[in-house]
Amino acid sequence: MSKYIAVDVGGSKILGALYDEEGQLLQRYKVKTKAHRGREVVYQTLLGVIDTLFSEDVAAMGILIPGVISNSRRVEMCSNIPFEKMDLSELLEEKYRVPVLLGNDVNLAVFGEWKHGGYEEKNIVGVFVGTGVGGGFILNGKLYTGKGGAAEIGHMLYKENGNLCGCGQFGCLETVAAKSGMLTFMEKERSKGTESVLFEKLIPGEMFHTTDLYDAWKLGDPLAKKVMKRSMHALGVALGSLNTLLHPELFIFGGGVMESFYEEICEELHEILLTHTMPPLREDVRFIRSYLGDDAGITGAFYLAKEALDGQRP
Ligand SMILES: [Zn+2]
Repeated sequence: MSKYIAVDVGGSKILGALYDEEGQLLQRYKVKTKAHRGREVVYQTLLGVIDTLFSEDVAAMGILIPGVISNSRRVEMCSNIPFEKMDLSELLEEKYRVPVLLGNDVNLAVFGEWKHGGYEEKNIVGVFVGTGVGGGFILNGKLYTGKGGAAEIGHMLYKENGNLCGCGQFGCLETVAAKSGMLTFMEKERSKGTESVLFEKLIPGEMFHTTDLYDAWKLGDPLAKKVMKRSMHALGVALGSLNTLLHPELFIFGGGVMESFYEEICEELHEILLTHTMPPLREDVRFIRSYLGDDAGITGAFYLAKEALDGQRP
């Protein structure tokens, strides 16, 4: 029976998993990425994870990268991990002699949710909100990646001449909607003398914890309320455009911010989406929350590897 390796190369950890053909998780192994130590160290760490799981039964591998991928083979852009402009697929195939497919982390998380959940819907838009905003499209029953980098929802223009984004542009959606943008806003408010319980938890140079924002929001802290209102408005506007553009059967929401706030903000988000959607397309817009959590990505990477191999068979 063939086995498959799925690896999630994240900014803080590398998570590897071994699956059988049926998608049963057989083994998992997690180590720290140590991204600050440079490409060679991270690459050797990745090889260490694969070596721990690899055997002769392994038929293919799927690797998840938080960045822009071309043709499932090359890392074009990747801000948290030093793998930019790297032909990672080729390197790993030379070493392990099995097909190696790369995918964007959120693309694959949405793909994993869709495959694993057995959804009947064939057109789905997934939006994950955490430090950034990522996306994934299932169109006509297939993961849609365009030339490789599709569904970069967080980098759609939200505000002309807005704040600088990690991608080099100004005013991207995630400079307002994601935690990175929220943090910039909080720090600006602090320098203006605004008071908030959020500031007790902020550590200079570090990202805040979503749970701290959630607790402050629950307490009715005005800044926490404002931060979330800005974020949800920006997100709702973008979702309205996506609904008008793709008219999907279902939206799947994931990522730390959506997982924490989903129940509370769902209705408001729905309303903002509808007011920014072309009127005839406002009927029956459906949302759900992702349920695989941290395992969505590796699940998608498993299916990516398995389907690539199934496609090769006569
Ligand atoms: Zn951007």
